[in-house]
This record gives sequence, structure tokens and C-alpha cells, in this order.
Amino acid sequence: MSIKKQLQEFGDVLVNQEMKYHTSFRIGGKVRYSFYPFNLESLKNGVEFLKQNNVPFKVVGKGSNLLWTDDDLEMVVIFLDHYLCNYEFQGNRLEAEAGCSIIQLAVQAKNCELSNLEFASGIPGSVGGCVFMNAGAYKMAMSDVVSEVMVLRDGEYVWLSNYDCEFDYRYSIFKKHPDWIIVKVRMNFISKDKNDIEEVMQSRRERRIASQPLDKPSAGSTFKNPEEKPAWQCIEECGLRGYTIGGAKISDKHCNFIINEGNATAKDVKELIELVQSKVKEKFGIELKTEVEEYTWQEKRTMN
Ligand SMILES: Cc1cc2nc3c(=O)[nH]c(=O)nc-3n(C[C@H](O)[C@H](O)[C@H](O)COP(=O)(O)OP(=O)(O)OC[C@H]3O[C@@H](n4cnc5c(N)ncnc54)[C@H](O)[C@@H]3O)c2cc1C
Repeated sequence: MSIKKQLQEFGDVLVNQEMKYHTSFRIGGKVRYSFYPFNLESLKNGVEFLKQNNVPFKVVGKGSNLLWTDDDLEMVVIFLDHYLCNYEFQGNRLEAEAGCSIIQLAVQAKNCELSNLEFASGIPGSVGGCVFMNAGAYKMAMSDVVSEVMVLRDGEYVWLSNYDCEFDYRYSIFKKHPDWIIVKVRMNFISKDKNDIEEVMQSRRERRIASQPLDKPSAGSTFKNPEEKPAWQCIEECGLRGYTIGGAKISDKHCNFIINEGNATAKDVKELIELVQSKVKEKFGIELKTEVEEYTWQEKRTMN
């Protein structure tokens, strides 16, 4: 039986989707199969099938931190946003499936007069992607909110504590284990007046709109901030504001954003990243590390 037929037992399967429609950069070639598991059991069975048959796979959230290769890939991309996107508030706690939008949860928390996710109300990621990245802003991060994470690990669902997740600046244990899949997250909140929460969210929204090029496709901050000085300042002082390679440009509005001017390829973005890294290293001796994750799996194989 074909891979498609087998996977269809566990979820919806789409063929040859272009990843540019699944990444905020609007960049990325085709992937052979997109798999949308119906529930936790079918995710587990689907992944077991893929592993047994040595089929490469990767889970993608909202694709808002990904520089996906221009190449077409013979692989399976797993999306959790169709079926694994339920959530429930219980008192000051929230249990949310990994396919939920973090922005939507921040808004729902506000409506329930619960405070803690205001920092995430402008981060366009999924719950799974935000935990994976330990996404953060305004001196807060997912690690300040998350109490436990349920993960599909070696064929079993296990709950990891916040401590087990080894959270750090834009880092979690999940980066070391690309085959683990985050499926559910528990978060803690504190009670607060809805209007106070809205005020904070609104002022952050205004700050983002004023400082970030939100009208152009991007993946947010390209580089992590080094200890010495913010990444945007290193780039600015190298005279690279507005610098362009192909369709990829260092934003005039925010130097740590690379934007897609319309027809950028992953290759353009990659070249621009490397150019910035070498100029910053040359001028300041600082090694800028990417926050954006590049996906360039290259093994050539044919799937049935
Ligand atoms: C305009 C803009 C503003 C942004 N602002 C911020 C900001 O303020 N702070 C910040 O931290 N980030 C910011 N980002 C970056 C991005 O939104 C975050 O990194 C977010 O956490 C990525 O979530 P995602 O669902 O899009 O993950 P994706 O980009 O889809 O995936 C990122 C990584 O997470 C992995 N992953 C996703 N879901 C799962 C899962 N369920 N289980 C295991 N692994 C998984 C993927 O395999 C991949 O390796 C911004 C991006 C944009 C475009």
C-alpha cells in the first residue's frame, strides 16, 4: 500500500503542497505529503508507521520561524492545526493542544480575566512552536508560563515538567530531539482585570506596529541578541540597513528583520544571513547566531 493510503487511516493527507503557503516568509518548495492527524492516537500510529518505514518527517506549526528550502522534498510534514487545536481553561490554568494559535489563546485568556500571556499576543506562532522556541518578548517567555508539556517521545506520551524542558533564551530540550512532538501544554495564569490586560496588549501592539515591518513576509527576528549589544545595532553599525540580495532585504524599519520583497528564495535569505554574520564578525568580533531555523533536508529518495 502507498504511504498516502496508509497515512489516510490516521488523518487527512495532502499531496505536493508548497511550503511557501505554510511559512510566514512565503518561501519554500513542495513537500510530498502533508499529514493532519485526527487525534492523539492517530498521531502516535502515524508517526510509528513513518518511523518503521524510514520516512523522513517534520512537524511544522505556523511556520513563523522557518526558512524552508526552495527544493522539493520527498518527506512528510505533520500539521497539528486542523484537529489538535483544542483548549480548556480551568480556574487559573489552561491546557492547550499544540496546534492552537498563541495569539488566540492570549486573547481568550484576556477574556477570562487571566494574565500572563500578554507578551505573546503579537507572536504569530502555534503553542507547539512557541514552546519549542521558548518564544518570548518584553522580558517574558513561554518558560515563565508553562508548567508541563506533553510530548510524543519514543512511541509514548509523557508529561515533562517545566524543569525537564531545559528552557533557556530561545532554547528548549526539544531542539535536541527533533523527532519528539509536543502535543499539549499546561500554563498558569494570575487573575487580573480585563481592561488592564487589554491596555498592556494594546500598547505592545502599537510598539510592534511602529517598530516592525509587519506589512512584509518575514520570520521575525533573524538573529538572537548577543550579550554585547542588540543584533539590530550590530547590523545597523555595519551599514547594512536596507541591504538587498535578490528578493531578500534587511528591513529599513528593523535591521534584525529580513523581509521577502516578493520573490525571495531561501538561497537569497541564506546569502544575506551569511553576509551579515561575516560583516558583524569582521567589525565587532561578534558571532551572530540565527534565531530563524533553516530547514534544508537534502536526502534524495522517491516515495510511493
Ligand atoms: C512578525 C513576526 C514577529 C515575531 N515576533 C516574535 C517575538 O516577539 N518573539 C519570539 O520569540 N518569536 C517571534 N517570532 C518568531 C516565531 O513566531 C516564534 O519563534 C514562534 O514560536 C514559532 O512558532 P511556529 O508555530 O510558527 O513554529 P514553526 O516556525 O512552525 O516551527 C519552529 C520549530 O518548532 C518546531 N515545532 C513546531 N511545532 C512543534 C511541535 N508541536 N512539536 C515539536 N516541535 C515543533 C518545528 O519543527 C520547528 O523546528 C515572530 C515571527 C514573526 C513572523
